[in-house]
Amino acid sequence: MNYHLGKRSMTNLIGVHPALAFVVTEAIKITEQDFTVFEGVRSLERQKALLASGDSQTLHSYHLYGLAVDLVAWVDGQPSWDPKYYPAINRAVKAVMARYNINSTIENGADIWNGWDHPHWQMSGMMAYYDVRELAA
Ligand SMILES: [Zn+2]
Repeated sequence: MNYHLGKRSMTNLIGVHPALAFVVTEAIKITEQDFTVFEGVRSLERQKALLASGDSQTLHSYHLYGLAVDLVAWVDGQPSWDPKYYPAINRAVKAVMARYNINSTIENGADIWNGWDHPHWQMSGMMAYYDVRELAA
């Protein structure tokens, strides 16, 4: 396999909680299905747009707080949301979490929402109701 994260994926990990970013950077080393970090930290403006279009169902997304990432399958040079690619990514992420005893904290969207949002991983229970970026303002 031997996949690696590209520049765009690494850039999208900026601002993501270090424990979650660590899991992602370890998972890419062992995954049997290549993936890209499609989205990490999300602005409130983008969240509002996603809610309006129906692509999200909340204004309190973990993405706003650096506590979620979307790992989208990378197939033939482009992202794919086909569910058939996701079990392999899921196995890789969960193997890393088990290895480092963090399996109860980071949850997959498909497990949380009954098969919806396979690419989504979030640090459930660690929601902070403020935006860390605002602390520096
Ligand atoms: Zn997501």
